[in-house]
Amino acid sequence: MLTFDQYLTPESLDDAFDMLHRIPAARLLAGATDLLPWAREGRAGDVHLPAVIDISRIADLSGISQQGARIRLGATTPISALQLHPLLQQQAPVLGSCALWFADDQIREQATVGGNLVNASPAGDTQPALLALNTHVTIARRESGRILERSVPLSEFILGPSKTLLQPEEILVRLEFDALPQHGVSFEKVGHRRSLAISTVCLATLVRLDADKRIEDLRIAIGAVGPVPERLSDIEDLLTGIKPTPLALRDASIRVADRVRSRSRQSYRREVLSNFVERSLVTAIAHAGLELPRLPKESHYV
Ligand SMILES: Cc1cc2nc3c(=O)[nH]c(=O)nc-3n(C[C@H](O)[C@H](O)[C@H](O)COP(=O)(O)OP(=O)(O)OC[C@H]3O[C@@H](n4cnc5c(N)ncnc54)[C@H](O)[C@@H]3O)c2cc1C
Repeated sequence: MLTFDQYLTPESLDDAFDMLHRIPAARLLAGATDLLPWAREGRAGDVHLPAVIDISRIADLSGISQQGARIRLGATTPISALQLHPLLQQQAPVLGSCALWFADDQIREQATVGGNLVNASPAGDTQPALLALNTHVTIARRESGRILERSVPLSEFILGPSKTLLQPEEILVRLEFDALPQHGVSFEKVGHRRSLAISTVCLATLVRLDADKRIEDLRIAIGAVGPVPERLSDIEDLLTGIKPTPLALRDASIRVADRVRSRSRQSYRREVLSNFVERSLVTAIAHAGLELPRLPKESHYV
C-alpha cells in the first residue's frame, strides 16, 4: 500500500519545483494508475513517502494545440483525449487507435500520456505511436530561480525498462509531434487478453502514398518486444519509393522477426510481430487509398 505524510497539489510549475526542492524524496503523481499498483505487495511492497506531489492541476502541463506542422500536448493530457479530442482525431488518428486498446474507460480518463512515458514500461502502449509521429518531449527544471526547458527526441528519452533521461527535480512538461492528417494509419496490439491487457506485442504504422500510389512516407514503430520501443527504419527504407504489392509486404514483414529481444514467449512474439507488420501495412496502405489483398497466412517461426 502507498502511504504518505503529505498530499500536495501545486497549481504552478514554480510551486511544484519548490516542493520537489524542499522534499527531495517526494514523488510526482499525475493519474496514479502506475504509482498505486506499484506500491503494492508483490511489486514494490508497502511504500511510505514523505509527500506525493499531484501535478494534475498545473495549467502549464495541460492543453492540446497545433503549431504549424506540429502538435503540442501537455504531459498531463489523459489517454482518453487521444481518442476523443477533435484536433488529435483529425491530425494524429493513430493515437486514437492506440487509445482504443488502452485499458478501459475509467483508466483512460485517469492515466496520462506523460505518466505512460515516464513509467517507461516496455509494454507502454503510447510509445510506438508517438515514436512513429517523431515525438520530442520537453523536460523542465529550475535553476537559480528560472525554469529552463530542454527538448529531446522520444527515442532518446526512454533508456530502458523504467529508465528515462529524467533527472531528480525535473518534470516532463509536454510532447510535440508531427501533424499527419493525410497518412493512413494502423495500430496493432496483442496481450493475454484484448483489453486491460499488458501488451505482448504492439505496433503503429503510418503511411502516405503519392499520386502514383507509391509509398512516399512510411513510419513503423514496435513496442513490448524489447527493452525500448523502436522504429523499423530498415523496413521503412526498403519499402519507401516502391509501389506496394502483397509479396513485397510479406517479404518485408518476415525480416522483422529477429527484432524480438524479450526472452519470454519468443517464438510466439516473433510470429505475431511478423504477422502484425504485414497486416498493419495492408491496413494503413488501404487507409491511404490502395486496397491490397493479403496473402494466405503462413507460419514461419514455430
Ligand atoms: C487496470 C490498468 C490497466 C492499464 N492498462 C494499460 C494499457 O493498456 N496500456 C498501457 O500502456 N498502460 C496501461 N496501464 C498503465 C498506466 O495506466 C499507464 O502507464 C499510465 O499512462 C500512467 O500514467 P499516470 O498518469 O497514471 O502515471 P502515474 O502513476 O501518476 O505516474 C507514473 C510515474 O511517472 C511519474 N510521472 C508522471 N507524470 C510525470 C511528469 N509529467 N513528469 C515527471 N514524472 C512524472 C510519476 O512520478 C511516477 O513515477 C494500466 C494500468 C492499470 C492500473
